[in-house]
Amino acid sequence: MPIHFLSPEDAQKVAAGEVVERPANVIKELIENSIDAQASSIELFVKQGGKEQIKITDNGCGMSQEDAILCFERHATSKLFCFDDLPMVSTFGFRGEALASVCGVAKVSITTKQKDHIEAVQLSIQEGKVVAQQAVSGPVGTTIVVDDLFYNIPVRKKFLKTTITEWNQIVSLFKSFCLTYPHIHFTLFHDDARVYNCPPVTTVLDRVAQLFDPIVFSNVAELCIQEERGITVTGVITNPHYSRYDRNGLYFFVNNRLVKNYQLARAVLKGYCNVLPHNKYPFAVIHLTIDPLMVDVNIHPKKEEVLFLHPHLVEQAITKAVTATLEKHTVETQKGSPYAFPGTVTQSFRETDVFPIHSFAQQNPAPLFSDAVPRVPQDSNAAAEYPAVTHVFPKETQETVPVFKSEPQYRIVGQFHKTYILLDTEQGLVMVDQHAAHERILYEQFGKNFGKTETIELLFPVLVTVSTVECAALVPYLSLLEQQGIVCESFGEQKLRITAVPVYAKNI
Ligand code: ADP
Ligand code: MG
Repeated sequence: MPIHFLSPEDAQKVAAGEVVERPANVIKELIENSIDAQASSIELFVKQGGKEQIKITDNGCGMSQEDAILCFERHATSKLFCFDDLPMVSTFGFRGEALASVCGVAKVSITTKQKDHIEAVQLSIQEGKVVAQQAVSGPVGTTIVVDDLFYNIPVRKKFLKTTITEWNQIVSLFKSFCLTYPHIHFTLFHDDARVYNCPPVTTVLDRVAQLFDPIVFSNVAELCIQEERGITVTGVITNPHYSRYDRNGLYFFVNNRLVKNYQLARAVLKGYCNVLPHNKYPFAVIHLTIDPLMVDVNIHPKKEEVLFLHPHLVEQAITKAVTATLEKHTVETQKGSPYAFPGTVTQSFRETDVFPIHSFAQQNPAPLFSDAVPRVPQDSNAAAEYPAVTHVFPKETQETVPVFKSEPQYRIVGQFHKTYILLDTEQGLVMVDQHAAHERILYEQFGKNFGKTETIELLFPVLVTVSTVECAALVPYLSLLEQQGIVCESFGEQKLRITAVPVYAKNI
């Protein structure tokens, strides 16, 4: 087959695929550019999950007319002069590729003005070429509008997910920028409605209050700063009273850059010394500051992944920081100190006690919740996702721990730290996590009563605050909830109004 060169336009589209896969990728590049431009205010307007339009306005340094024309060219950057400078680059961008890629797959317009310039310049770009240029009035800073993503690559457009899914990705990304830059005023609009308004604050904790629901905030505390061998770990984590079923509450930043890294998540969980129930995750914002020479940020076109020179040191530092924080706050809680975690809001945990300090301090704690440990009772359906019973046996005997095939015979011998029920069984000691057991009972109840639950109308409807993402995820399933006896409707972007509940839940 004869070799030939791709046309510059086609080469551009192919290359764009590396950076631009979905609206959130475009937004990430645009916000990073605004931060690199020293903006103190960044407004983001999104339409239809970013599929229809993305608009960003910043009050950064702006660009000259010449630079505004150049910035859409491939490898045009003001941030890197030669490859040897790469490890020391402190800006997000350095490849000079993002805007070129975006312009290759969407209709883009840019309006920008530098300080002391009288007029702003406005350019419209299509297929990577300037199709209109004019002088306009406007404030110092830059506004970029990205319309009709993938209008020229129908097959890519088809791969975009539903508006809700794309929007969720955007919200998660937006939150991560807010968490890294508390001093920047961030605003996010969706389909003309303002969803988040985050004026500048001084701490990450304050940001958590602006962005997340009150339950997260009331269970979160600042991480004990860990400094070791050139690695500094800061951030916030939740106490073991708070947990969630997914990892979406875990945010990692390396030198202020959002990264995805499975090992870092594992290091956080290790720091909890298994005091979180199986398959449950905390909320954590972890900032790592590390010598730039000890980390490679250039292994991924979207710069989402990083490679550490000494991954074990990094993981160890995170684990230590988490453990130290939990230890400190356990002690503070026992002393009733005001520096303890603000408190537990979740109903089901209200009476639970603090966790034993030695469980954090032990060098090699026995796994209270370990994947290797079989759980009982087990069955093949989805209910097994919510196991209630956990064996605690020495590691070497784990393989021989039997799984109950039928109803286990047991005798309740007591309760441990108001958290676990201790059972004496033929097979040995079984610890039942009360909270997980309660969840399982509810699960069984829901399953048994599905579609035939008796409901009771509430005299005073209850308003429940949820995040926009949770609200958007729940709304399509309201009729399913109704079959379970919970009648509710969305009440604004972040509230649900519950008007009826199942009879058995009337006192909850
Ligand atoms: P990179 O960020 O890797 O340099 P980009 O394609 O993202 O590449 O941007 C190219 C150049 O355009 C940047 O180096 C910067 O000089 C300029 N630029 C982009 N966005 C902005 C902005 N919001 N404000 C000021 N300058 C910008
Ligand atoms: Mg950039």
